[in-house]
Amino acid sequence: MKTLTVSVVTPDGPILEDDYEMLSCKAENGELGILPGHIPLVAPLTINAVRLKRENTEDLLAVNGGFLEVRPDKVTILARSAEKASDIDVERAEHAKERASKLLESNNPNIDVMRAKLALHRAINRIEVAKH
Ligand code: ATP
Repeated sequence: MKTLTVSVVTPDGPILEDDYEMLSCKAENGELGILPGHIPLVAPLTINAVRLKRENTEDLLAVNGGFLEVRPDKVTILARSAEKASDIDVERAEHAKERASKLLESNNPNIDVMRAKLALHRAINRIEVAKH
């Protein structure tokens, strides 16, 4: 089976570099499935899971926005932050979820609603990816 090299990089450093048969993710324009030999493209990513398939296994990453760059034999994800499923601290994500939910429910006019929504979305994404 042909593979492509997937590299995930964040401002904190590299998160993953390995060979996979397929990558699926959610770009702002919709779901993308990338196989080796894909045409080059650059796409902004949503806060979502990135699925990496190889043989009979699937690795999951929580990717919290950023960009995907596809070349025929390589995919690079430049993410604002990203965690492998096994590196996610679920308790921390549950706390972040609760904090953001409370802020959004508070109706306090001084809160940055978009910021709280993004924090909630990151926390939910981490919890979902860790559960997989
Ligand atoms: P928190 O409020 O818990 O810090 P956050 O969504 O604001 O969450 P980010 O700014 O996205 O956090 O990330 C800051 C750093 O902490 C990144 O390196 C990110 O990978 C890491 N991180 C955040 N939440 C978790 C988690 N639940 N488990 C593991 N690493 C995490």
